[in-house]
Amino acid sequence: MLIHFDNSYADNLNGFYTSCKSEFYPAASLIKFNHTLAMQLGFKFDGLDENGLANIFSGNQMLEGSTPIAQVYAGHQFGHFSQQLGDGRALLLGEVVNEQGKRFDIQLKGSGRTPYSRSGDGKSALGPVLREYIMCESMHALGIPTTRALAAVTTGEKVVRNEPLPGGVFTRVASSHIRVGTFQFFAAQQETDKVKKLADYSIARHYPHLQDVDDPYLAFFTEVCEAQASLVAQWMLVGFIHGVMNTDNMTISGETIDYGPCAFMDYYAPDTVFSSIDKHGRYAYRNQPSIAQWNLARLGEAMLSLFGEDTEVTIPLVTKILEQFPEQYTQHWLVGMRKKLGLQSEEENDLNLINDLLAVMHQNNVDYTLLFRQLADVLHQDDVVYSLFEDASAVQEWVKKWLGRIARDSNDVEQSFTQMNQVNPIYIPRNHLVEEAIDAGVYSEDFSKFEALLEVTSKPFDLQTNKERYTSPADTDFNKSYKTFCGT
Ligand code: AMP
Ligand code: MG
Repeated sequence: MLIHFDNSYADNLNGFYTSCKSEFYPAASLIKFNHTLAMQLGFKFDGLDENGLANIFSGNQMLEGSTPIAQVYAGHQFGHFSQQLGDGRALLLGEVVNEQGKRFDIQLKGSGRTPYSRSGDGKSALGPVLREYIMCESMHALGIPTTRALAAVTTGEKVVRNEPLPGGVFTRVASSHIRVGTFQFFAAQQETDKVKKLADYSIARHYPHLQDVDDPYLAFFTEVCEAQASLVAQWMLVGFIHGVMNTDNMTISGETIDYGPCAFMDYYAPDTVFSSIDKHGRYAYRNQPSIAQWNLARLGEAMLSLFGEDTEVTIPLVTKILEQFPEQYTQHWLVGMRKKLGLQSEEENDLNLINDLLAVMHQNNVDYTLLFRQLADVLHQDDVVYSLFEDASAVQEWVKKWLGRIARDSNDVEQSFTQMNQVNPIYIPRNHLVEEAIDAGVYSEDFSKFEALLEVTSKPFDLQTNKERYTSPADTDFNKSYKTFCGT
């Protein structure tokens, strides 16, 4: 058997999905298969050639043991509640359990219409497939919880968007696809028994240590909040902008999911927004922590009936947990920022030191990734970062303060240097390089740039020879006018 499926969602959660078939794509062909991940999942694909893989990961061939389903969910999209969403262009093939006992969903994206497609065609253009592949694998390499890329396939047919574009299917691996919106769907239907069933299932699958605690639902809610506080802090620390933090795009596992119009920020500017549909900047870089908290409030509402009958008691309980979110987030972020600055100890004034640096970076249009990476070099040769600043004198004072702060740490400077280079990446998927890789794939069937970008970003912290072009930002004008589009 190629994949040993063990489909707990389909087996246990009747009423939470619809069984579906995928589209047949006779001319499907494989672009990329993640052999390393496949091995980690225990797949036995050794004898299969590219055609065989294309058949499986286009959905043409259903493997034995697969029970393909589209999951139902609801969600707040840009603050407005949609009661009926769901996998409109995705199909959960089934679940696998790896050797370590960890369970994963295997899902096709772009596999055709389902009962939740609404007016959509259920398909995906190739561009968003390549984008999600690059972005999620880069996030994984950066050590950030995320869904993973298993395969990318071209369907050999065109999909109709603003122009006819080649179609694609993306295969995603996730700890699960349970979203805040999954809870919201059943809460909105007032099916409290199903909300309970989903919570029990989620606890058993993701937070099994909570099964025997006194108040498992409240403990579950608390831990989901903590997981999200940690996740969003990690996004902020690398300059990642998700772009469409709707509640249906937020997992309860704490993994980054649904890479649509996401992008890494180049020049540090807290109000950066790349998504073409985010007209009011709801999901701007700086808003991500507060939006996460807002989304979690929606989860709290959806789960309210599980916390007790008296809302005069349960609402304050939920509110109290939610109120802890900013502090939890800030703590995660501070720990991460101290590492980025090579600080070993904690001082009360660290937050000011960090904010002063960010302010001067903002004023001077400084590249976020380059600055932090090059800062470590200042420990050896103190003038390297100044060229990144339009007005170098603005940061000289700060560097003095920072060096003084480093000197107050008991550890030696080399330790700080090493620590900084372990957390400050050199290589992120730069927007202009992502676009270049996508364009070559979509318009010229040339996937060499896609491969090269994947390769470089798979080792984000290691200096690689002859890869200078991957370290530099595009010019300011490119980024000022850069727009990303939804993954449809
Ligand atoms: P997203 O904003 O990409 O997370 O998608 C929001 C909702 O729209 C989800 O329920 C998707 O399944 C659905 N959707 C997005 N694109 C399509 C499409 N091309 N066909 C059908 N449904 C889609
Ligand atoms: Mg989504």
